[in-house]
Amino acid sequence: MARTKYIFVTGGVVSSLGKGLTAASLGTLLENRGLRVSLMKFDPYLNVDPGTMNPFQHGEVYVLDDGAETDLDLGHYERFTDGKLTRANSVTSGQIYQQVLENERQGKYLGQPVQVIPHVTDEIKRRIRQVGEQTPVDVVIVEIGGTTGDIEGLPVLEAVRQMGQEMGAGNTLFLHVTLVPYIRVAGEIKTKPTQQSVAKLREIGIMPRVLVCRSEKPISQDVRRKIALYCNVPEDAVIEELDVQTSIYEVPVMLQRESLDELVCRCLHLGVPPARMTDWAAMLERIRRPTHSVRIAVVGKYIGLQDAYKSVYEAITHGGIANDARVEIVRVDAETIEKQGAERQLAGVDGILVPGGFGNRGIEGKIQAARFAREKQVPYLGLCLGMQIATIEFARNVCGLKDAHSTEFEPKTPHPVICLIEEQKNIKRLGGTMRLGGQPCKLTPGTRAQALYGAETVRERHRHRYEFNNDYRERMQREGFVLAGLTPDGELVEIIELEKHPFFIASQFHPEFQSKPHRAHPLFRGFIEAALKRKSA
Ligand code: GLN
Repeated sequence: MARTKYIFVTGGVVSSLGKGLTAASLGTLLENRGLRVSLMKFDPYLNVDPGTMNPFQHGEVYVLDDGAETDLDLGHYERFTDGKLTRANSVTSGQIYQQVLENERQGKYLGQPVQVIPHVTDEIKRRIRQVGEQTPVDVVIVEIGGTTGDIEGLPVLEAVRQMGQEMGAGNTLFLHVTLVPYIRVAGEIKTKPTQQSVAKLREIGIMPRVLVCRSEKPISQDVRRKIALYCNVPEDAVIEELDVQTSIYEVPVMLQRESLDELVCRCLHLGVPPARMTDWAAMLERIRRPTHSVRIAVVGKYIGLQDAYKSVYEAITHGGIANDARVEIVRVDAETIEKQGAERQLAGVDGILVPGGFGNRGIEGKIQAARFAREKQVPYLGLCLGMQIATIEFARNVCGLKDAHSTEFEPKTPHPVICLIEEQKNIKRLGGTMRLGGQPCKLTPGTRAQALYGAETVRERHRHRYEFNNDYRERMQREGFVLAGLTPDGELVEIIELEKHPFFIASQFHPEFQSKPHRAHPLFRGFIEAALKRKSA
């Protein structure tokens, strides 16, 4: 078998350049050329994983099938490609140091002083190679988090520099994503920041072969020539990546127009036919010219931040694509509902979604939103905490269980309809200790959820500690609370829905992690369909 090739994606000038999107889009193009691709992210921070980080600072925690809690860029990778990702595809400096220190304690370094070079860099290289070795792939795209010049990124850059040296130019490729800013008052595009960040890379021995230039204005031939000359790359290696107009799913097509994939294949001696993007282009056409439109409220507490519910927003969009509809997402702060009431915030929306979350803040507002959806017959989709919320609401207001709650928020509640199961009770340590990752769920025949999935058993991803309390099953079922999905042993409630409602479904798992733009998740497809129906009624 041919050797696995590695593409290293670095970022320059500023963060939030969309490096992850660029890497994922290149993945789409290479996959549609018939190559087997895997993407990995290397985050230079010292957390072992982002599982314990605040979504306000870090954005959503994306969960893989094997239960790894990862950076949200892994979500892009899975939405843009079909490559299977595991824990190995998401590495942090924290993990590297943890391993190196563990090796040291076990005497594996035979009494040598333990140093960044070679011990840390060797461990980094081992982790990167592991991705190419675990399942055979043609190309591994390695995105390196952070910005060139960050102190904490230095060991990673040194490690990939060494890989480039060891494997050679035909087997490795350095792609630098950089910012080419437009200075409005001067009416000019500036190349100096790009020159400087490339110079920074050269200082540590990395010569980027491809420059992907993020820009809000088209980059003229003159400017391209200048960048090429000063950054030491051929002119055709200056790739323009403009801000997208309607959808992030335009990026692969945009980069294809710039011949990025062709260049990459040429540099890596990959003789494969051009990317077949007809299906992808057809999907884009549907995004650009939708027949319908619909308004969906997302009621959460990290509403001000674009990235905190990334996969949820994407999955809603996918539901729209599947229904030929443009979805306007109305972000509603749960605490505002507490102050102003649900009616004021939610009147006029066609669907209500309550996503996952932790902690007390905004809980009563979310409960009011669920009540509003139930009483006004507005389609409701609850995700993880959104299911627990719906359960609490139904227990309180339909079953008359006064002060019903989750023990997460009210340990002394008289009706703990959501509580910890035995295994979770003794866990004190944070980090990877929740119920995590893909697990089977058996769907109840005759339910709406089962009809949407069109399957008997499905596999969905979890990230939570609390569960539906089985002591309340009968009491609630009597009132029309349907257990639409259970673990195969029947022990845990995975999906609930309501009988007397056009669409009220909530899951203990996170369906948003498995939705793709051309393959919307069934629950999101059904939710948007129901919202459209309500709108036209
Ligand atoms: N806080 C809840 C739990 O731990 C819900 C978690 C979530 O929504 N991801 O069970």
